[in-house]
Amino acid sequence: MITATTKDEVRKQVKRWKEAGLTVGLVPTMGALHQGHVSLVEASVSQCDRTVASVFVNPTQFSAGEDLEAYPRDFERDREILEKAGCSMVFHPSVEEMYPAGSATYVDMDSEMTRQLCGRSRPAHFRGVCTVVSKLFNIVTPHKAFFGEKDAQQLAVIRQMERDMAFGITIVGCPTVREEDGLARSSRNAYLKEEERKAASVLYKAVVEGRRLIRRGEGNGRRIEKAMRELIEKEPLARIDYVEAVDGATLQPKETVEDGDLIALAVYIGKTRLIDNFTVRNGERESIKK
Ligand code: AMP
Repeated sequence: MITATTKDEVRKQVKRWKEAGLTVGLVPTMGALHQGHVSLVEASVSQCDRTVASVFVNPTQFSAGEDLEAYPRDFERDREILEKAGCSMVFHPSVEEMYPAGSATYVDMDSEMTRQLCGRSRPAHFRGVCTVVSKLFNIVTPHKAFFGEKDAQQLAVIRQMERDMAFGITIVGCPTVREEDGLARSSRNAYLKEEERKAASVLYKAVVEGRRLIRRGEGNGRRIEKAMRELIEKEPLARIDYVEAVDGATLQPKETVEDGDLIALAVYIGKTRLIDNFTVRNGERESIKK
């Protein structure tokens, strides 16, 4: 596996691959890799001839007072994980490489989509995400880019940005990888103390409850949200940021949920903010009704 730290190295290598007729997949990450990230690399390896993963803790997507400095970093470990997963090149740039002195251009989506859900408590977040992902798209020029469904709002925003900016890159969403008790894998799970880690399983319990209601035929978004909230509120270490039923593409609140809609939640466990979600599938409902 090649380790690249500059845009130039990446461009030259990708050019060679493309000249040889090979397809290229991109997996953007902030490092502190876990099985969720590995599943994206594996998806890319299975669909593309060469896979580039980026490891970059992007400062512009952190709002003031968030965990930018504390965010876990262990590049040697990440490198080994990526190599084992079949990655062809890891791009590990410095902040100056991605944001050279005097950088003044940002990609900012003018849509309610980025102001909903996580956008409410993280106002600068999606501007930072769109900016860094645009830069990565321009540097790597992949055929396909892989993102996790765990960050459902991010995935929807990137799909929209890709269309709006005509990048011509296929965006591939990959299913959420979970721990044994259902907790969605996340680099931020490392912040959880033992008691908090146990309490964190409440997010998945809420997901299971939401799914159960929908399977039973419940279609009212507010009632689904309420039942999920009530379950989370029973956990003393949990504090709800949001639990919301929204349209899967536009992220606007939905009264009656249908196939493709999203039920998304963000919950603080102690000081750690965790997210989860599921997509409504009518198939599930029908299979129970039979
Ligand atoms: P991050 O390093 O947290 O910025 O995540 C990098 C990519 O990995 C994003 O596309 C995430 O959605 C994805 N990802 C993070 N956790 C998971 C997970 N548990 N399952 C699947 N994908 C994930």
